[in-house]
Amino acid sequence: MGEVIKINRDDVINGIAGKRPGKPKGGVIHNDAGAMSAEAYLPWLISRKNRGQLPLGFAGYYGDRTTMLRVDNTNNKEWHTANPEGNTWFLGYEVVQSYYGIISDKDFLLNEDMVLRQVAEDFHFYGLKPNRNTVMLHKQFSSTTCPHRSWDLHGKSVNSVKDYFISKIAHYMSLGKTVEEMLKKEGVSAPAPTVPNTVTPQPDGKTLVVGKQAKQWETGSNIPAFVIGQRYDVLASKPVSKSRSKKAYLIGKGKVATGWLLEQDVEGFKTAGGGNTDKATPTTKPAITGTTTQSESVAGVQMFLNRWFYGKLEVDNKMGQATKKALIKALQMELNKQFKAGLNEDGAWGPKTENACITVRPGARGDISRLIQATLICKGYKVGGFDGIFLEGLEKAVKEFQRKNGLKVDGIVGKATFAALFR
Ligand SMILES: [Zn+2]
Repeated sequence: MGEVIKINRDDVINGIAGKRPGKPKGGVIHNDAGAMSAEAYLPWLISRKNRGQLPLGFAGYYGDRTTMLRVDNTNNKEWHTANPEGNTWFLGYEVVQSYYGIISDKDFLLNEDMVLRQVAEDFHFYGLKPNRNTVMLHKQFSSTTCPHRSWDLHGKSVNSVKDYFISKIAHYMSLGKTVEEMLKKEGVSAPAPTVPNTVTPQPDGKTLVVGKQAKQWETGSNIPAFVIGQRYDVLASKPVSKSRSKKAYLIGKGKVATGWLLEQDVEGFKTAGGGNTDKATPTTKPAITGTTTQSESVAGVQMFLNRWFYGKLEVDNKMGQATKKALIKALQMELNKQFKAGLNEDGAWGPKTENACITVRPGARGDISRLIQATLICKGYKVGGFDGIFLEGLEKAVKEFQRKNGLKVDGIVGKATFAALFR
Protein backbone atom coordinates (compact mmCIF):
# COMPACT_ATOMS: atom_id res chain seq x y z
CA MET A 1 0.00 0.00 0.00
CA GLY A 2 1.58 3.20 -1.15
CA GLU A 3 1.15 6.46 0.62
CA VAL A 4 2.38 9.97 0.18
CA ILE A 5 1.31 13.10 1.98
CA LYS A 6 0.32 15.68 -0.60
CA ILE A 7 0.06 19.21 0.64
CA ASN A 8 -1.58 21.56 -1.85
CA ARG A 9 -1.17 25.17 -0.86
CA ASP A 10 -1.47 27.05 -4.13
CA ASP A 11 -2.41 30.13 -2.14
CA VAL A 12 1.15 30.52 -0.89
CA ILE A 13 2.51 31.74 -4.22
CA ASN A 14 -0.92 32.52 -5.65
CA GLY A 15 0.29 33.24 -9.17
CA ILE A 16 2.71 36.04 -8.24
CA ALA A 17 4.78 35.31 -11.36
CA GLY A 18 1.77 35.43 -13.68
CA LYS A 19 0.03 32.82 -15.80
CA ARG A 20 1.80 30.60 -18.29
CA PRO A 21 0.80 31.56 -21.82
CA GLY A 22 0.15 27.91 -22.65
CA LYS A 23 0.72 24.41 -21.39
CA PRO A 24 4.18 23.75 -19.93
CA LYS A 25 6.91 22.38 -22.18
CA GLY A 26 8.36 20.17 -19.46
CA GLY A 27 9.90 20.11 -16.00
CA VAL A 28 13.12 21.19 -14.31
CA ILE A 29 14.41 19.00 -11.49
CA HIS A 30 16.27 20.99 -8.85
CA ASN A 31 18.29 20.13 -5.76
CA ASP A 32 17.53 22.66 -3.03
CA ALA A 33 21.03 22.91 -1.49
CA GLY A 34 19.16 22.96 1.77
CA ALA A 35 18.47 21.06 4.94
CA MET A 36 14.72 21.30 5.43
CA SER A 37 12.01 18.71 4.88
CA ALA A 38 9.36 19.42 2.24
CA GLU A 39 6.84 20.18 4.98
CA ALA A 40 9.18 22.72 6.56
CA TYR A 41 9.28 24.68 3.33
CA LEU A 42 5.67 25.76 3.81
CA PRO A 43 6.14 28.12 6.77
CA TRP A 44 9.49 29.13 5.32
CA LEU A 45 7.91 30.23 2.03
CA ILE A 46 5.05 31.95 3.86
CA SER A 47 7.55 33.97 5.86
CA ARG A 48 9.44 34.82 2.66
CA LYS A 49 6.19 35.92 1.09
CA ASN A 50 5.27 38.04 4.09
CA ARG A 51 8.55 39.85 3.75
CA GLY A 52 8.18 40.38 0.01
CA GLN A 53 11.05 38.01 -0.75
CA LEU A 54 9.41 35.62 -3.21
CA PRO A 55 11.39 37.22 -6.07
CA LEU A 56 14.42 35.50 -4.51
CA GLY A 57 12.98 32.39 -6.08
CA PHE A 58 10.59 29.51 -5.60
CA ALA A 59 9.55 26.34 -7.37
CA GLY A 60 6.04 24.97 -7.63
CA TYR A 61 6.93 21.75 -5.80
CA TYR A 62 9.08 20.74 -2.83
CA GLY A 63 9.37 17.01 -2.37
CA ASP A 64 10.90 14.47 -0.08
CA ARG A 65 10.32 10.75 0.41
CA THR A 66 7.11 11.21 2.40
CA THR A 67 5.67 14.54 1.38
CA MET A 68 4.93 16.49 -1.77
CA LEU A 69 4.32 20.16 -1.13
CA ARG A 70 2.77 22.16 -3.98
CA VAL A 71 2.75 25.90 -3.47
CA ASP A 72 1.25 27.23 -6.69
CA ASN A 73 -1.12 26.27 -9.46
CA THR A 74 0.89 24.49 -12.14
CA ASN A 75 -0.60 26.77 -14.81
CA ASN A 76 1.36 29.68 -13.31
CA LYS A 77 4.93 30.73 -14.07
CA GLU A 78 7.57 30.08 -11.41
CA TRP A 79 10.74 31.98 -10.53
CA HIS A 80 12.97 28.92 -10.41
CA THR A 81 15.58 29.06 -13.16
CA ALA A 82 16.72 32.71 -13.33
CA ASN A 83 15.77 32.51 -17.00
CA PRO A 84 12.56 33.66 -18.76
CA GLU A 85 12.25 30.53 -20.91
CA GLY A 86 12.64 28.23 -17.89
CA ASN A 87 10.38 30.30 -15.67
CA THR A 88 7.65 30.69 -18.26
CA TRP A 89 7.50 27.24 -19.79
CA PHE A 90 8.82 24.70 -17.29
CA LEU A 91 7.43 23.27 -14.08
CA GLY A 92 9.88 23.43 -11.15
CA TYR A 93 10.53 20.56 -8.73
CA GLU A 94 12.85 20.88 -5.73
CA VAL A 95 14.31 17.66 -4.35
CA VAL A 96 14.90 18.79 -0.77
CA GLN A 97 17.54 18.04 1.87
CA SER A 98 20.18 17.85 -0.86
CA TYR A 99 22.92 19.48 1.18
CA TYR A 100 25.57 16.91 2.08
CA GLY A 101 25.60 15.91 5.73
CA ILE A 102 21.83 16.11 6.23
CA ILE A 103 20.71 12.76 4.83
CA SER A 104 22.43 9.74 3.29
CA ASP A 105 22.60 9.16 -0.47
CA LYS A 106 20.10 6.35 -0.03
CA ASP A 107 17.55 8.65 1.57
CA PHE A 108 18.29 11.38 -0.93
CA LEU A 109 17.48 8.97 -3.76
CA LEU A 110 14.16 8.20 -2.07
CA ASN A 111 13.44 11.95 -2.04
CA GLU A 112 14.41 12.15 -5.69
CA ASP A 113 12.23 9.15 -6.63
CA MET A 114 9.17 10.71 -5.01
CA VAL A 115 9.75 13.93 -6.94
CA LEU A 116 10.14 11.97 -10.20
CA ARG A 117 6.79 10.25 -9.53
CA GLN A 118 5.23 13.69 -9.23
CA VAL A 119 6.89 14.72 -12.50
CA ALA A 120 5.39 11.56 -14.07
CA GLU A 121 1.93 12.50 -12.73
CA ASP A 122 2.18 16.01 -14.15
CA PHE A 123 3.50 14.77 -17.50
CA HIS A 124 0.44 12.53 -17.74
CA PHE A 125 -1.75 15.49 -16.88
CA TYR A 126 -0.25 17.75 -19.53
CA GLY A 127 0.27 15.03 -22.13
CA LEU A 128 4.06 15.43 -22.08
CA LYS A 129 6.56 12.73 -23.01
CA PRO A 130 9.80 12.44 -21.04
CA ASN A 131 12.78 13.19 -23.31
CA ARG A 132 15.81 15.47 -23.44
CA ASN A 133 13.66 18.45 -24.48
CA THR A 134 11.08 18.09 -21.73
CA VAL A 135 13.23 16.94 -18.81
CA MET A 136 15.62 19.77 -18.00
CA LEU A 137 18.26 20.70 -15.43
CA HIS A 138 18.55 24.08 -13.76
CA LYS A 139 22.14 24.43 -14.96
CA GLN A 140 20.93 24.37 -18.57
CA PHE A 141 19.13 27.68 -17.93
CA SER A 142 21.60 29.59 -15.80
CA SER A 143 24.97 29.40 -14.11
CA THR A 144 24.51 27.13 -11.09
CA THR A 145 25.67 23.79 -9.72
CA CYS A 146 22.00 22.77 -9.31
CA PRO A 147 21.13 19.87 -9.23
CA HIS A 148 24.45 19.29 -7.46
CA ARG A 149 23.74 16.03 -5.69
CA SER A 150 21.77 14.32 -8.48
CA TRP A 151 24.70 15.39 -10.67
CA ASP A 152 27.18 13.56 -8.44
CA LEU A 153 24.97 10.47 -8.27
CA HIS A 154 23.99 10.08 -11.92
CA GLY A 155 27.13 10.44 -14.01
CA LYS A 156 28.14 14.11 -13.72
CA SER A 157 27.07 15.19 -17.21
CA VAL A 158 23.93 16.95 -18.43
CA ASN A 159 22.80 14.06 -20.62
CA SER A 160 23.65 11.28 -18.17
CA VAL A 161 21.65 12.96 -15.40
CA LYS A 162 18.78 13.76 -17.77
CA ASP A 163 18.72 10.24 -19.21
CA TYR A 164 18.55 8.82 -15.70
CA PHE A 165 15.59 11.08 -14.88
CA ILE A 166 13.92 10.32 -18.23
CA SER A 167 14.04 6.56 -17.75
CA LYS A 168 12.70 6.83 -14.20
CA ILE A 169 9.88 9.17 -15.23
CA ALA A 170 8.95 6.89 -18.16
CA HIS A 171 8.87 3.92 -15.78
CA TYR A 172 6.66 5.74 -13.28
CA MET A 173 4.35 6.92 -16.07
CA SER A 174 3.89 3.29 -17.11
CA LEU A 175 2.71 2.42 -13.59
CA GLY A 176 -0.14 4.90 -13.21
CA LYS A 177 -1.54 8.35 -13.62
CA THR A 178 -0.99 9.59 -10.08
CA VAL A 179 1.76 9.24 -7.50
CA GLU A 180 -0.64 7.19 -5.39
CA GLU A 181 -1.34 4.77 -8.25
CA MET A 182 2.38 4.39 -8.97
CA LEU A 183 3.19 3.64 -5.33
CA LYS A 184 0.38 1.14 -5.17
CA LYS A 185 1.58 -0.62 -8.31
CA GLU A 186 5.13 -0.70 -6.98
CA GLY A 187 3.87 -2.11 -3.70
CA VAL A 188 5.98 0.30 -1.70
CA SER A 189 5.04 2.74 0.99
CA ALA A 190 6.54 6.12 1.40
CA PRO A 191 9.03 5.26 4.12
CA ALA A 192 8.83 6.96 7.48
CA PRO A 193 11.11 9.97 7.74
CA THR A 194 14.46 8.96 9.11
CA VAL A 195 17.08 11.11 10.72
CA PRO A 196 20.27 9.65 9.33
CA ASN A 197 23.35 8.97 11.38
CA THR A 198 23.41 11.26 14.33
CA VAL A 199 22.47 14.47 12.59
CA THR A 200 19.66 16.38 14.25
CA PRO A 201 17.99 18.99 12.03
CA GLN A 202 17.29 22.20 13.95
CA PRO A 203 14.71 24.23 12.08
CA ASP A 204 14.00 26.20 15.20
CA GLY A 205 15.30 29.69 14.59
CA LYS A 206 18.55 29.26 16.51
CA THR A 207 21.49 31.36 15.33
CA LEU A 208 25.13 31.68 16.32
CA VAL A 209 28.16 33.85 15.67
CA VAL A 210 31.36 32.27 14.34
CA GLY A 211 34.10 33.13 16.87
CA LYS A 212 37.12 35.21 15.82
CA GLN A 213 39.45 32.38 16.85
CA ALA A 214 37.76 29.90 14.46
CA LYS A 215 40.14 28.39 11.90
CA GLN A 216 38.88 25.04 10.63
CA TRP A 217 35.56 23.37 9.97
CA GLU A 218 34.81 20.05 11.60
CA THR A 219 35.97 18.42 8.35
CA GLY A 220 39.44 19.96 8.74
CA SER A 221 39.22 22.40 5.83
CA ASN A 222 39.86 26.10 6.43
CA ILE A 223 37.03 28.44 7.31
CA PRO A 224 36.94 31.32 4.79
CA ALA A 225 37.70 34.75 6.29
CA PHE A 226 34.28 36.16 5.33
CA VAL A 227 32.59 33.66 7.60
CA ILE A 228 34.48 34.71 10.76
CA GLY A 229 32.56 36.94 13.13
CA GLN A 230 29.30 36.55 11.18
CA ARG A 231 25.95 35.38 12.46
CA TYR A 232 24.48 32.24 10.87
CA ASP A 233 21.40 30.09 11.22
CA VAL A 234 21.89 26.74 12.93
CA LEU A 235 20.52 24.10 10.54
CA ALA A 236 21.56 20.89 12.30
CA SER A 237 23.82 19.49 14.99
CA LYS A 238 25.73 16.26 15.56
CA PRO A 239 27.93 14.85 18.29
CA VAL A 240 31.71 14.78 17.68
CA SER A 241 34.61 13.70 19.84
CA LYS A 242 37.35 16.29 19.80
CA SER A 243 39.37 17.46 22.76
CA ARG A 244 37.56 20.80 22.96
CA SER A 245 34.26 20.03 21.25
CA LYS A 246 31.58 17.44 21.84
CA LYS A 247 29.24 18.86 19.23
CA ALA A 248 29.32 20.39 15.76
CA TYR A 249 26.72 22.67 14.20
CA LEU A 250 25.78 22.88 10.55
CA ILE A 251 25.46 26.60 9.92
CA GLY A 252 24.11 28.52 6.95
CA LYS A 253 21.94 31.40 5.79
CA GLY A 254 18.28 30.67 5.27
CA LYS A 255 18.39 27.15 3.99
CA VAL A 256 21.78 27.15 2.33
CA ALA A 257 24.37 25.44 4.47
CA THR A 258 27.91 26.79 4.80
CA GLY A 259 29.75 24.23 6.93
CA TRP A 260 30.00 22.24 10.15
CA LEU A 261 31.29 24.50 12.93
CA LEU A 262 32.85 23.00 16.06
CA GLU A 263 31.36 23.89 19.41
CA GLN A 264 34.67 25.48 20.49
CA ASP A 265 34.28 28.13 17.77
CA VAL A 266 30.74 29.19 18.64
CA GLU A 267 30.61 32.70 20.02
CA GLY A 268 26.99 33.32 20.86
CA PHE A 269 23.74 31.46 20.43
CA LYS A 270 20.48 33.24 20.01
CA THR A 271 17.05 31.71 19.63
CA ALA A 272 14.10 32.70 17.50
CA GLY A 273 13.04 36.30 17.61
CA GLY A 274 16.56 37.58 17.95
CA GLY A 275 17.32 38.85 14.49
CA ASN A 276 17.07 35.57 12.68
CA THR A 277 14.60 36.33 9.95
CA ASP A 278 14.80 33.47 7.53
CA LYS A 279 13.52 30.60 9.58
CA ALA A 280 10.47 28.43 9.57
CA THR A 281 7.87 28.96 12.25
CA PRO A 282 8.90 26.69 15.12
CA THR A 283 6.67 23.69 15.32
CA THR A 284 5.56 22.22 18.60
CA LYS A 285 7.21 18.89 19.30
CA PRO A 286 4.94 15.91 19.89
CA ALA A 287 4.27 15.74 23.60
CA ILE A 288 2.79 12.28 23.18
CA THR A 289 5.02 9.63 21.68
CA GLY A 290 4.05 8.50 18.22
CA THR A 291 1.57 11.31 17.64
CA THR A 292 1.77 13.01 14.26
CA THR A 293 -0.25 15.69 12.49
CA GLN A 294 -2.25 12.82 10.97
CA SER A 295 -3.09 10.99 14.20
CA GLU A 296 -6.80 10.54 14.82
CA SER A 297 -6.68 11.99 18.32
CA VAL A 298 -7.04 15.37 20.01
CA ALA A 299 -3.23 15.51 20.22
CA GLY A 300 -3.00 14.89 16.46
CA VAL A 301 -5.48 17.70 15.86
CA GLN A 302 -3.49 20.00 18.15
CA MET A 303 -0.27 19.23 16.30
CA PHE A 304 -2.00 19.81 12.96
CA LEU A 305 -3.32 23.19 14.14
CA ASN A 306 0.09 24.16 15.48
CA ARG A 307 1.84 23.27 12.31
CA TRP A 308 -0.50 24.69 9.68
CA PHE A 309 -2.64 27.26 11.45
CA TYR A 310 -0.34 28.86 14.02
CA GLY A 311 -2.34 27.17 16.77
CA LYS A 312 0.28 27.67 19.52
CA LEU A 313 -1.44 24.93 21.49
CA GLU A 314 -0.04 22.75 24.20
CA VAL A 315 -0.22 19.20 22.83
CA ASP A 316 -1.94 17.63 25.83
CA ASN A 317 -4.55 15.49 24.03
CA LYS A 318 -7.29 17.33 25.92
CA MET A 319 -10.12 19.18 24.24
CA GLY A 320 -10.46 22.61 25.84
CA GLN A 321 -11.27 26.24 25.06
CA ALA A 322 -7.89 26.96 23.43
CA THR A 323 -8.22 24.06 20.99
CA LYS A 324 -11.84 24.97 20.23
CA LYS A 325 -10.80 28.55 19.46
CA ALA A 326 -7.90 27.39 17.31
CA LEU A 327 -10.31 25.20 15.29
CA ILE A 328 -12.63 28.15 14.62
CA LYS A 329 -9.65 30.33 13.71
CA ALA A 330 -8.36 27.69 11.29
CA LEU A 331 -11.79 27.48 9.62
CA GLN A 332 -11.89 31.28 9.32
CA MET A 333 -8.40 31.25 7.79
CA GLU A 334 -9.47 28.64 5.24
CA LEU A 335 -12.71 30.44 4.35
CA ASN A 336 -10.73 33.65 3.84
CA LYS A 337 -8.05 31.92 1.83
CA GLN A 338 -10.28 29.81 -0.41
CA PHE A 339 -13.40 31.96 -0.65
CA LYS A 340 -12.20 35.46 0.22
CA ALA A 341 -14.73 35.52 3.07
CA GLY A 342 -13.15 38.57 4.71
CA LEU A 343 -13.61 37.20 8.25
CA ASN A 344 -11.73 38.32 11.33
CA GLU A 345 -9.45 35.41 12.16
CA ASP A 346 -10.23 35.71 15.86
CA GLY A 347 -11.37 32.20 16.74
CA ALA A 348 -14.79 33.47 17.86
CA TRP A 349 -17.92 31.93 16.33
CA GLY A 350 -20.48 34.46 15.09
CA PRO A 351 -23.11 34.98 12.38
CA LYS A 352 -20.51 36.24 9.87
CA THR A 353 -18.47 33.07 10.17
CA GLU A 354 -21.58 30.90 10.01
CA ASN A 355 -22.80 32.70 6.86
CA ALA A 356 -19.43 32.26 5.19
CA CYS A 357 -19.53 28.48 5.62
CA ILE A 358 -19.86 26.51 2.43
CA THR A 359 -21.57 23.16 1.86
CA VAL A 360 -19.18 20.22 2.05
CA ARG A 361 -20.27 16.87 0.64
CA PRO A 362 -18.85 13.36 0.61
CA GLY A 363 -16.10 13.15 -2.00
CA ALA A 364 -14.66 16.56 -1.08
CA ARG A 365 -11.03 16.85 -0.16
CA GLY A 366 -8.91 19.57 1.32
CA ASP A 367 -8.33 21.52 4.48
CA ILE A 368 -12.00 22.26 5.17
CA SER A 369 -12.81 18.54 5.10
CA ARG A 370 -9.78 18.08 7.34
CA LEU A 371 -11.17 20.62 9.82
CA ILE A 372 -14.53 18.83 9.84
CA GLN A 373 -12.63 15.63 10.67
CA ALA A 374 -10.72 17.53 13.35
CA THR A 375 -13.83 18.78 15.17
CA LEU A 376 -15.41 15.35 15.09
CA ILE A 377 -12.22 13.70 16.37
CA CYS A 378 -12.16 16.23 19.21
CA LYS A 379 -15.78 15.32 20.01
CA GLY A 380 -14.85 11.65 20.24
CA TYR A 381 -16.08 10.41 16.85
CA LYS A 382 -14.26 7.91 14.66
CA VAL A 383 -13.87 9.49 11.22
CA GLY A 384 -11.79 6.86 9.39
CA GLY A 385 -8.63 8.91 8.82
CA PHE A 386 -7.44 12.45 9.54
CA ASP A 387 -6.42 13.26 5.99
CA GLY A 388 -8.83 15.81 4.54
CA ILE A 389 -10.61 13.27 2.36
CA PHE A 390 -14.38 13.06 2.88
CA LEU A 391 -15.03 9.32 2.59
CA GLU A 392 -17.60 6.92 4.09
CA GLY A 393 -16.01 7.00 7.55
CA LEU A 394 -16.47 10.74 7.78
CA GLU A 395 -19.95 10.61 6.26
CA LYS A 396 -20.98 8.06 8.90
CA ALA A 397 -19.59 10.25 11.68
CA VAL A 398 -21.35 13.34 10.31
CA LYS A 399 -24.68 11.49 10.19
CA GLU A 400 -24.23 10.21 13.72
CA PHE A 401 -23.40 13.73 14.90
CA GLN A 402 -26.43 15.17 13.08
CA ARG A 403 -28.71 12.55 14.60
CA LYS A 404 -27.47 13.27 18.14
CA ASN A 405 -27.83 17.02 17.65
CA GLY A 406 -31.31 17.12 16.16
CA LEU A 407 -30.10 18.17 12.71
CA LYS A 408 -31.25 16.94 9.33
CA VAL A 409 -29.42 13.61 8.87
CA ASP A 410 -27.98 13.79 5.34
CA GLY A 411 -24.23 13.40 5.85
CA ILE A 412 -23.68 16.79 4.19
CA VAL A 413 -22.02 19.56 6.17
CA GLY A 414 -23.89 22.82 5.58
CA LYS A 415 -24.18 25.97 7.68
CA ALA A 416 -26.27 24.44 10.49
CA THR A 417 -23.96 21.43 10.86
CA PHE A 418 -20.87 23.68 10.73
CA ALA A 419 -22.36 25.81 13.50
CA ALA A 420 -23.15 22.77 15.65
CA LEU A 421 -19.64 21.37 15.08
CA PHE A 422 -17.59 24.50 15.71
CA ARG A 423 -19.72 26.75 17.92
ZN1 LIG B 1 17.87 24.75 -9.02
